Amino acid sequence: MKIETVYVPTDHYIDGKRVSGSASFEVRTPIDNSVLGTCAGGNKDLIDRAVEAARAAFHTWGKASAVARGVVLRRFAQRIRANKAALSIVESTDNGGLRHAIAAHMIERSAQNIEFFAARAEHIGGEVVPGSTNTDIVTYEPAGVAALITPWNGPLMLSTWKLGPALAAGNTVVLKPPELAPLSCGLLASLAEEAGVPPGVLNVVHGDGTVTGQALADHPGISRISFTGSPQTGRKVATAAAANLVPVSLELGGKSPFVVFSSADLDAAAATAARQYFNAGQVCLAGTRILAKRSIAQSLLEKIREKVGAMRIGDPRDESTSIGPLISARQFERVKGFVDRARAQGAEVLFGGRQHSAGELYFEPTLLAPVSQKSEIVQNEVFGPVLTWQTFDEEAEAITLANDTTFGLAAVIFTGDPAQAERVGKAIVAGTVWVNSFFVRNLAAPFSGFRLSGVGVEGGNRSVDFYCNVKNLSIDNASFQRGASSGPGRPH
Ligand code: NAD
Repeated sequence: MKIETVYVPTDHYIDGKRVSGSASFEVRTPIDNSVLGTCAGGNKDLIDRAVEAARAAFHTWGKASAVARGVVLRRFAQRIRANKAALSIVESTDNGGLRHAIAAHMIERSAQNIEFFAARAEHIGGEVVPGSTNTDIVTYEPAGVAALITPWNGPLMLSTWKLGPALAAGNTVVLKPPELAPLSCGLLASLAEEAGVPPGVLNVVHGDGTVTGQALADHPGISRISFTGSPQTGRKVATAAAANLVPVSLELGGKSPFVVFSSADLDAAAATAARQYFNAGQVCLAGTRILAKRSIAQSLLEKIREKVGAMRIGDPRDESTSIGPLISARQFERVKGFVDRARAQGAEVLFGGRQHSAGELYFEPTLLAPVSQKSEIVQNEVFGPVLTWQTFDEEAEAITLANDTTFGLAAVIFTGDPAQAERVGKAIVAGTVWVNSFFVRNLAAPFSGFRLSGVGVEGGNRSVDFYCNVKNLSIDNASFQRGASSGPGRPH
């Protein structure tokens, strides 16, 4: 398939070869919802072939030193960087993300995801635990074949976030990219090949979730599953992992609070609130529930209205665009359905609330004042440009409202009071709490979702550890001492 000037392979990539699918599926661009072409479809047989190739490649890749793997992975990162223009053209056309933002941030971050974990893996080392009878030598060994399943809202960035630590730790992988935006991962496989990633180490099988994704999660030949997506699918993946007793990492949805106190810098808070509409709100971490202290609420609302009013909604290829389209007609209907139901239940539309004139899949940035905390629009993830607006009087009330959902992915607090930042930050149930900031993700820092937002912790060594078996070689201290008998260890 050709996207502008870029040729994109749409076949599977198995054992270093392009493999056509048994069937194919349509790929559309959200820019105007037109068909770009078709991509190879997957099935259980193709997953079997990919897992087999990955298992064969594990014998050499898993035994190579982390330094040797690092040489290849750094070349891979460089190929990603060198193809920034091509990757941003492809990904923005495929998933409707802003081309300038993908070029400025996502591609570089994808390269860093590979490089950072290559370096971490070189420093895994091990531990020696001296004991009175035995000395324990602890080593971190690659687990085997990792199944990686990723969503469409940031396919390249979220796939490399998993590929980096999995490959660096010595695993081989089968990646199942999102069927709604598979193209940048298809290109990524070619860049890996150019970088010298050996055949079978990185395999890409395209296809839908229910057949291809499920076949991968179910496969008895895999040793780890790392999944990013919705809690509904997360449950299915966890069930498949349970059947094979395979460790699983789940990064799931969110409904994060955005709490603004009276001491906050309201201009900064309003500018950051407007950023929650980035990627048309299709961001798991977005602070989608604005909670404003009543005394500053009116002033904050006016500032947010002004900031959002200045945002340009339209073609994501255009440098001046701030908000692009939703991913699909289905997602558009889902978002519209949430807004229509909230309105029918009595929510006040503070701004937005309708389709935008830019095109079929464009929805206005919307702010709704719901009737109650129990409203669907407060409790459920919309995954679109729709935020809710609530006020509070006391700090304790803000904390209660912030924590009153089934999610726990992230939170944003704006306050001028450091003691309050610490108090409220500690009280909010979320894997990441940003104070006077948003979306800062240090690769070395832990990243996790509480409650329905996920299982497991990633980031830094934790990501690498997930893809390792931790082994203890426990040696009897007396056995190998000069003159010791070679008999069995002493009883203890
Ligand atoms: P999704 O769960 O529908 O799909 C995610 C991936 O899972 C896709 O590749 C899909 O093909 C695959 N899949 C679907 N059914 C499957 C099955 N039965 N077995 C195995 N794989 C299957 O999610 P989505 O709509 O693509 O993405 C949006 C969701 O992802 C939102 O809930 C969002 O919050 C979440 N998300 C979370 C994070 C995070 O880091 N926590 C990041 C991005 C997105």
